Amino acid sequence: MSADAWEVCPICQNLPEEWRKGIDYLYGDIPLKEFKVVEEEYNKLKQIETVREDYEVGLNNDGTAYVSFLAVCEACGAEWVYSKKNIHASNLLDKQSEQQCI
Ligand SMILES: [Zn+2]
Repeated sequence: MSADAWEVCPICQNLPEEWRKGIDYLYGDIPLKEFKVVEEEYNKLKQIETVREDYEVGLNNDGTAYVSFLAVCEACGAEWVYSKKNIHASNLLDKQSEQQCI
């Protein structure tokens, strides 16, 4: 399996939990100068790609295919896993089903 991509996490956006729905609630609640500092940090953090995606797809010599996908966020630990092996050609499966019905 190879590391193919990095993404911004759709769960945490690399932000602390209290900032995940935005920081507008802080505007007017803290001094403007402090809000600008928080805003700058917020914008910097949410750009960082913390999800490493590894995936592999291909065909086997026996005529089947395989798909493997793993993504893990280094910030919040969210993990997405999908794996399927022995995927048969769909058009051949239809012909096999037809033959079995006859
Ligand atoms: Zn995350």
